[in-house]
Amino acid sequence: MRLLMTICLLAAMPWTASAAPTWQTISSEPGKRIEIDRANLKRENNTVQARGRVILDKELIDSRSGAPYRIIEAITRYDCSTRSAMTIKRIFKKNENDTVREEESKGVDLPVRTGTLDDKVLREVCRPPKDNPAELAQKASEAAGQLKQANEALLKKELARTEKPETLRIADGGHLSGPDVNETERAAIPSIRPKLRVAAESAKEIPAPVPQQVKEIAPNKATRFTTRSTGHAPPTRAKKAASKVEGYMLEMTQFQLEAATQHALIHWDYEGAGGPDNWSKLDPQNKTCATGDRQSPIDIRDGIKVDLEPIKFNYRPSTFRITDNGHTVQVEVGDNSISLTGKTYELVQFHFHRPSEEKVNGQRFDMVVHLVHKSDDGHLAVVAILLEHGNENPFIQTLWNNMPLEKNQPVDPPTATIDLNALLPASRNYYTYMGSLTTPPCSEGVLWLVMKQPAQISQDQINIFGRLYKNNIRPIQPTAGRLIKEGR
Ligand SMILES: [Zn+2]
Repeated sequence: MRLLMTICLLAAMPWTASAAPTWQTISSEPGKRIEIDRANLKRENNTVQARGRVILDKELIDSRSGAPYRIIEAITRYDCSTRSAMTIKRIFKKNENDTVREEESKGVDLPVRTGTLDDKVLREVCRPPKDNPAELAQKASEAAGQLKQANEALLKKELARTEKPETLRIADGGHLSGPDVNETERAAIPSIRPKLRVAAESAKEIPAPVPQQVKEIAPNKATRFTTRSTGHAPPTRAKKAASKVEGYMLEMTQFQLEAATQHALIHWDYEGAGGPDNWSKLDPQNKTCATGDRQSPIDIRDGIKVDLEPIKFNYRPSTFRITDNGHTVQVEVGDNSISLTGKTYELVQFHFHRPSEEKVNGQRFDMVVHLVHKSDDGHLAVVAILLEHGNENPFIQTLWNNMPLEKNQPVDPPTATIDLNALLPASRNYYTYMGSLTTPPCSEGVLWLVMKQPAQISQDQINIFGRLYKNNIRPIQPTAGRLIKEGR
């Protein structure tokens, strides 16, 4: 009975009294869980003020304080009669007890769309109590106890698991790379990890001319889920959508997550609302995608035939990490580089497109591998190896054998190794031109080195990639008078 009274009292108390929260999970999806605090629903006429939180599997870095956080709490007022919502406050937390930053919101009341996460919360908090108060309180008390225990256990488990969390991803040539490697892993796989760390650290600094837009975090499934399911933000109104989201607890939270990782509100894609025509509108940082005049890919033709300096490939057998990042299959290896014009470019990652993004004399190839390298002073050099159907490619087979089952869940095969020398065509002759990343933010100043001789890949291997990505290419961009060199 005393318990019952406590519950009743708590329910009547305002936020400031901070009643012990009773978190109830209302949505659980890969990468995050969304909960509301049942014990602190504050009802007034048709409005309910609710505290909700998103618990992420992996920590993110707060862009303002630089501190990691994994829980975002938001206090939002829902109007049950008009189905609108306004976020009042957000709190970024490292864990249950440590607050990273609090943020008052100047949100406005905005309609909640059907099917969104806010819609779920709204339905939950606006549901009228049916049972008599005593029964309800009894049920609440029982449920609260169970939920609290379950949530605490879950949180404890998750916090323990992420004691050494994966945080920022390393930068690359516009594609998304796997999570940074933590200390344990570095120690476990010394052969490649130190280099990965170097790449990660140099990437974090991002000197000119590859600006910091290059730094990106791999999108998680949750991101895609949210942005897609909300149908929020038709790209032509992307800017408007960004401000529209202000009032939403969960969508704004998502916005914050993405802002923290310098990411766009809508996720870029190869088709639909996030497609290439709209990349520049998704994020101001993608402006170059529309305004740049040295963009990639191009149709490589009419090059001047000259003697080109041979590329020195410092490739060696390496263990690797493979990730399906939602745009492509990407592989990271350590301790591989190329040398050209007195400069060494470390291999950051390589990834695949189907078909080839670049054309040669108007012709596309079945696929292409882009090996993204970065020099110490931040310049990018991408080696493109065109793939045409023919014999099975053992190098690619090793990768496909280890293909991740889930997106954004990197696989580190413990024993398998790859040797990029095996992927290189016999002839090392190449085309070269200055271009850009072929993915947002489309940064320019990228040295492209497209091998003239294609490597072979079996139709089965092409089909396997096609099961994941049928058409992950950016359209051909205008050459706009750029000089193309062709090794003779
Ligand atoms: Zn690429």
